[in-house]
Amino acid sequence: MNRRTLLKSAALLPLVPASQPLLTTAPAARKRSVRFAYIGDTHITPDTKPMESIAKCFHHAQNQADKPSFVLHGGDVIMDALKQDRDGVQKQWDAWHTVMKADNSLPIEYCIGNHDVWGFEGAKSDPMYGKKWAVDLMKISGRYRSFDKNGWHFIILDSVQPKPDGMWYTGNIDPEQLDWLKQDLAKTGTKTPVLVMSHIPIFSPTAFFSEQNNKDGNWTISGGLVLSNTPELLKLFYQYPNVKTALSGHMHLLDRVDYNGVTYLCNGAVSGNWWKSDTYQQTKAGYALIDLYDDGTVERTYLQYA
Ligand SMILES: [Zn+2]
Repeated sequence: MNRRTLLKSAALLPLVPASQPLLTTAPAARKRSVRFAYIGDTHITPDTKPMESIAKCFHHAQNQADKPSFVLHGGDVIMDALKQDRDGVQKQWDAWHTVMKADNSLPIEYCIGNHDVWGFEGAKSDPMYGKKWAVDLMKISGRYRSFDKNGWHFIILDSVQPKPDGMWYTGNIDPEQLDWLKQDLAKTGTKTPVLVMSHIPIFSPTAFFSEQNNKDGNWTISGGLVLSNTPELLKLFYQYPNVKTALSGHMHLLDRVDYNGVTYLCNGAVSGNWWKSDTYQQTKAGYALIDLYDDGTVERTYLQYA
């Protein structure tokens, strides 16, 4: 093509309207993809205080002028199924469903917490022993899973595992689940922003809250506080720059850690100090509004509902 034909074909190109700038240097403004309420560590019992307070929390979230579109429950829905018999566990789930029916109209997604696992010694041969009961009542497809919401990929992990002696619990992502996680991330690719949810934190400084975790000058952080295979997860996430945020509960404490491009958020607790008081260590009882944006950024607003 010589200069003459080049000019000729250029002349055939449609004219750009004068009002439309040819070059923009400013980056496009981020757009919010989704706002949801993180509600976790509710530890419900059939007592008045937890039931009324949890109802209040759900009303607080639903009465926001800028309303969340769904609830993500980060686990420990009920006070405890680890050591309770069938009747005791049933009463706690009944209390939960009573509040959900009366006081929540938002869709709700669940992540399993350690206290949702039925670990009662005398129930070992019961088909509902372990996670089956919670999975059924939470109406989730399995103990771990993933789904998409408005351009974000959500991965809900099961961080609660039996110890080598069969007793509950310690925190890690078991080999079967880790294989699934690797496949799920590979399938998602490196563009879609990813949120990871695990009840027990993957990476959190809240484990340093207590001098009891320091013996003779050395920190001892159990897998029950921070997952024991965190190093493996950090390496895996590093391969996927689109893994943007990892939420947790469990500690009843509030933190934010930015590490290798991932924002780790531990999100307090609705029950505060397990309903004994509204503050645990220095963290007030509350829940969080989480805003996810199309550029992969995340904002959290922690709110007290009482
Ligand atoms: Zn808890």
